[in-house]
Amino acid sequence: MTAKMKIPFLDLVAPHLELEGELMEVCRNAFRTAGFIGGPVVEGFERDFAQFCEVKHCVGVGSGTDALRFALTAAGVQPGDSVITVPNTFIATTEAISQAGALPEFVDIDERTYNLDSEKLCKYLDTECDTDENTGRPVSRRTGRIIRAVVPVHLYGQPANMDPILEIAESYNLVVVEDACQAHGADYFSSKSRRWMKAGSMGYAAAFSFYPGKNLGACGEAGAVTTNDAEIAKKIRMIRDHGQAKKYYHDMEGYNGRLDTIQAGFLHAKLPRLASGNTKRRQNAETYQECFSAAKGIVTPFAPTWARSAYHLYVIRVKQREKLQQFLTDRGIGTGIHYPIPLHLQNAYRSLGYREGDFPVAEMTSREILSLPMFPTLTRGDVECVVQSIIDYLDAEVPESDYAGLLAQR
Ligand SMILES: *Cc1c(COP(=O)(O)O)cnc(C)c1O
Repeated sequence: MTAKMKIPFLDLVAPHLELEGELMEVCRNAFRTAGFIGGPVVEGFERDFAQFCEVKHCVGVGSGTDALRFALTAAGVQPGDSVITVPNTFIATTEAISQAGALPEFVDIDERTYNLDSEKLCKYLDTECDTDENTGRPVSRRTGRIIRAVVPVHLYGQPANMDPILEIAESYNLVVVEDACQAHGADYFSSKSRRWMKAGSMGYAAAFSFYPGKNLGACGEAGAVTTNDAEIAKKIRMIRDHGQAKKYYHDMEGYNGRLDTIQAGFLHAKLPRLASGNTKRRQNAETYQECFSAAKGIVTPFAPTWARSAYHLYVIRVKQREKLQQFLTDRGIGTGIHYPIPLHLQNAYRSLGYREGDFPVAEMTSREILSLPMFPTLTRGDVECVVQSIIDYLDAEVPESDYAGLLAQR
């Protein structure tokens, strides 16, 4: 992101300048009490974030990756297992699966929500797995391993369709760990529970990241696990702290994966603005939607009635996305691609043996997605300017024939 960016992809400076006094106070308090690890500041944040997520427990950890890894381990994922997730996520999701000792296996996504397709999940478990006689759990024919868990990712802040996922998981004896690292404050309407539920409150446990660019971001690295299960919360408190509940009495080996006090203080100071920040993101998404209604050749985010996205990212689809991205860069408009190469085609996962064509929807979206500027202080004028630039590009650059494929998918 360069200084000449007229409209940046993300502005992380303004919100911190606004809160500078409070954030400095957090540091001052830490210096004066020498409280750097744990203590009441961490506990205070954990209590309030649990309340925000409408769960009983929150355990602060070092990062979103730690949160996923600890949640999987605490949920019983063991070396030798397999864990199902989607190919179109940040690699941290599958790194955590591998670090818990398991192998990632992928199931393709829904073309509209870009999230785990529950029908494909069901079909995979039905037709590509056998049943383990002792545990009743599915055994992947692909890997010969027991599938212990599934990790739906609430990508871009849009909740995955959890009712069917939870139902399938229950019938196949799978643990559900939500990757809510992009979905702080997103809501899902559960027809089964007949109420709105927060992302991070529906699975056995959920992982949040407070990487600076997330909807709630630290000024450094941080993450958290949320859960309604007291046992899981207790286990994660031990795992994050070298396997000890009492200093130097280790019940198991754990990790150095604590949330530090200064970051917890920053997060606590920023938490009261998360809900209003999300509201502004939703307003910006509505403005985008409104302005795009006249544009041909753009697929805007799907907004199902059962979801209120936290709009961590606002992602459109367009053919020849690189050309549009360059055009916007030249006009001083920042964009991003989340993510250009699906995980099953990454070099890091060559040994898993997947091939191009295995997950056609994730592959198609990876070629067409483009993330536009989205943050709470983005103005209506900014959004209008971004959309007008895209319309200018489409008018000038795109032959009518290129629209056909995209329109057919709408
Ligand atoms: C950010 C992110 C993570 C990892 O979080 P870190 O705090 O960077 O470790 C995991 N999954 C998804 C989907 C993310 O966006």
